[in-house]
Amino acid sequence: MKGTRDLLPAETGLWQRVEDEARRILGAYNFREIRTPILEQTALFARSVGADTDIVTKEMYTFEDRTSESLTLRPEATASVVRAYIEHNLFNEGGIHKLYYIGPMFRRERPQKGRYRQFYQIGAEVLGSDHPTIDAEFLEMLVLFLGRLGLREYNLLLNSVGCPKCRAEYLKVLRQALDKVKDKMCGDCQRRAATNPLRVLDCKVETDQPIIESLPHTLDHLCPECRQHFDRVTGELQQRGIPYQIAPRLVRGLDYYTRTTFEMTSNVLGAQNAFLGGGRYDGLSEMLGGPPTPGFGVAIGEDRLILAVEQTASLKPDDRLDIYVAWMGEGALHPASQLARELRRDGLSVEIGYEPMKLKKSLGIASRLGARFTVIIGEGELTAGRFQVKDMSTGQQEEIEPARVAAVVKEKLQKG
Ligand code: AMP
Repeated sequence: MKGTRDLLPAETGLWQRVEDEARRILGAYNFREIRTPILEQTALFARSVGADTDIVTKEMYTFEDRTSESLTLRPEATASVVRAYIEHNLFNEGGIHKLYYIGPMFRRERPQKGRYRQFYQIGAEVLGSDHPTIDAEFLEMLVLFLGRLGLREYNLLLNSVGCPKCRAEYLKVLRQALDKVKDKMCGDCQRRAATNPLRVLDCKVETDQPIIESLPHTLDHLCPECRQHFDRVTGELQQRGIPYQIAPRLVRGLDYYTRTTFEMTSNVLGAQNAFLGGGRYDGLSEMLGGPPTPGFGVAIGEDRLILAVEQTASLKPDDRLDIYVAWMGEGALHPASQLARELRRDGLSVEIGYEPMKLKKSLGIASRLGARFTVIIGEGELTAGRFQVKDMSTGQQEEIEPARVAAVVKEKLQKG
């Protein structure tokens, strides 16, 4: 189907590696996993992402189920996380909740490199505090994560879109500026100028860009509290040695953002260069009928992150085969299977042939599978009570008692 992909084993090893690193770093910062449904009631997204955003007006997979209820394949998961937070009264526990998710999202966009209709996000949310240190520490975590993946060439773009109070003032100024120029803009922008002027700043139409560049910036219209918040975030980023660029147009394509917004981009990605984005959404819980609960989060575009990693980093999947068990003669099948079971129980990754084969053929299979070692079990080995362990990269062979094979191989694997 257009815009969807099959990820084959040649690729999934890297995906797993990236997800493992994500879980590890999120765990280190005390985030816990949440799994929400892929299907949600359509109203959830209209109320949170915003009725006049591209996502809601053009991109959602929405359908009626058999009882005429309107359902939508989630286009993003922050709304679902906050819905779950409210539905399960997590706020009653008090304190801060740090939650993360990994999974598919659906948007009916025009497919191109790095843009799919089913794509994957690794997302994390902090609910329950609007402290600027949360923003800075969160960005620090992302920088550490990218470092673990070996990704060093990227830009952190940062902006503040203010709170409802200063946003109202800013929107007045923006509307006035738009009144003068909107006739020269695309049809969508003319409509947005009246319904949701902030969205004009997201417009991607080429001829609108010079006009958008000339529009007033949110950063110049922040109220004192929002200004202070932003200065504290940038100050803490500097203290942590995290470089960033101010991006005055970065308002993000969803209506729920307040104050800090950010994106990270990579030059190796082409047109779709943003591989993650997020920010603060202090009013979202209330928009969804919950108690006032400030929040901050990120959605990492896993597809794009992996494209960037493939092109610039040397991260390797953890999917090498440790051992191939080659056995000769029916009498060797049982001891060979037993050895394979023990090695697998010990955590090694093991493959074994299911038919008796000549040694040469077994070794051919072992090297095609990329096995690091081959254990050879023939009549001679059975009589001697010691198996041959062959290092496939050097060709060296050692005779080892069956009970010691796992330990010896593990030691050699550790030495690299
Ligand atoms: P958003 O949920 O729009 O804030 O997007 C967060 C991140 O998800 C973006 O920076 C992209 O990396 C990724 N993303 C969004 N839409 C798509 C898509 N259609 N295909 C692939 N990745 C996407």
